Amino acid sequence: MRVMGKFEQLPEEVREKAIGDVFCIRCQKSFRMQTFTEREFRGALILEGKCPTCGETCAKPVGTHAG
Ligand SMILES: [Zn+2]
Repeated sequence: MRVMGKFEQLPEEVREKAIGDVFCIRCQKSFRMQTFTEREFRGALILEGKCPTCGETCAKPVGTHAG
């Protein structure tokens, strides 16, 4: 079952950074997520979105030093 609302509770600057700078390994460049899904992996919040150029699904951890 999908966890609702966790991402929406984050500060706007964190959300903006998370969706505005996602790296596509196939295109070797960053893009902005237009649509995304959120999920949790080992307690970390992960966003998944598709690259608008190639359609590859890219995941990004949110609010961590890895992001
Ligand atoms: Zn791509």
